[in-house]
Amino acid sequence: MSYKNFPMVPRVIFGRGSFNQLNDILEPKRLNSKAPFIFLVDDVFKNNAWLTSRIPLAYDDKIIYISAAEEPKTSQVDELVEDIILTTKERPSGIIGIGGGTLLDLAKAVSIMLTNEGETKDYQGWDLVKNEAIYHVGIPTISGTGAEVSRTTVLTGPEKKLGINSDYTPFDQVVLDSELTKDVPKEQWFYTGMDCYIHCIESLEGSYLNAFSQSYGEKAFDLCHEIFLDNNLSDQESQEKLMMASWHGGMSIAYSQVGVAHAMSYGLAYLLGTKHGIGNCIVFDHLEEFYPEGVKLFKEMKAKHNVELPQGICASLSDAEFDIMINVSLGMAPLWENALGKNWKSIMTPKKLKSLYQKM
Ligand code: NAD
Ligand code: ZN
Repeated sequence: MSYKNFPMVPRVIFGRGSFNQLNDILEPKRLNSKAPFIFLVDDVFKNNAWLTSRIPLAYDDKIIYISAAEEPKTSQVDELVEDIILTTKERPSGIIGIGGGTLLDLAKAVSIMLTNEGETKDYQGWDLVKNEAIYHVGIPTISGTGAEVSRTTVLTGPEKKLGINSDYTPFDQVVLDSELTKDVPKEQWFYTGMDCYIHCIESLEGSYLNAFSQSYGEKAFDLCHEIFLDNNLSDQESQEKLMMASWHGGMSIAYSQVGVAHAMSYGLAYLLGTKHGIGNCIVFDHLEEFYPEGVKLFKEMKAKHNVELPQGICASLSDAEFDIMINVSLGMAPLWENALGKNWKSIMTPKKLKSLYQKM
């Protein structure tokens, strides 16, 4: 047996208001006055002086605002990298992503593609990155995906939705300031928070489970229970705890895998553009057969927070469209094996998968 030797985020600052220390964190990393820091910021903050006035800009540093309306694409990464190369005097000192999973993944991917040749799509997969990325920092403004700790950056390419999984992907520095999440709209809070909850269930119920993953998964699960079902947290406590739940959920899947909901949600994302958080919720709602206890609690959380999920999103799909989704989903072999065991192909046949999608 050969065990995987994974990198972890080497530096993290945690605390309400820690975003104010960004200048102290970045300045020692500045290579010279011509090598700027590039801040990739969710455009939801564009006119938000409370946040943007605290981004420490000097010399040629710049902010690039990016919409999170769609999930990141490999072509988008290529364009950003080209733009940065054309408009900076020297290779940047660092890339700082400020936003949710979308912006964090873009920051990771851009930092990799600034030092690796060719097109981003060629690096979708496992351990294809050759050169170390440039210094990159992740600052989440919504909690749940675990993108702040993970070893992947999930991108939609011309042929597949698949991460760049590599030792160079994790951030060099993460800033966990829960105050940045205070204005997340309630529904989005629920969808992205449930991504974390589903990471826990899929990791804890999976065949790849081990003590490493379990210890993180159980902690994240308990935090999710407290946040989404118990009644005794202040807003601030709830925001801080969800930030840590996301971190632990991400750590849990680092050494195991996700499962059925993620495999199916990737199919929805590829064909219909359904975003990760809501897509996972739509799928998970119908998975009592695989995760009976987890789905029962999920339905309680949904009812408690009055969240209504879209129905019938697959109702008018053609057979050819179902086939595209089924192919993308069944292509995620490690997820299925984790969820259903080595014999997964005899359990999750294309016909069975279609019947599940037809419920959604
Ligand atoms: P997101 O980044 O897509 O953002 C969701 C919405 O919330 C957007 O409209 C955004 O503008 C808004 N938002 C974010 N912060 C806000 C704030 N503080 N106030 C108000 N609005 C705010 O959401 P997400 O769910 O965090 O990320 C989803 C993405 O993460 C997907 O692309 C998915 O593939 C990826 N993902 C990556 C990993 C990984 O390990 N790399 C894991 C899971 C998911
Ligand atoms: Zn997820």
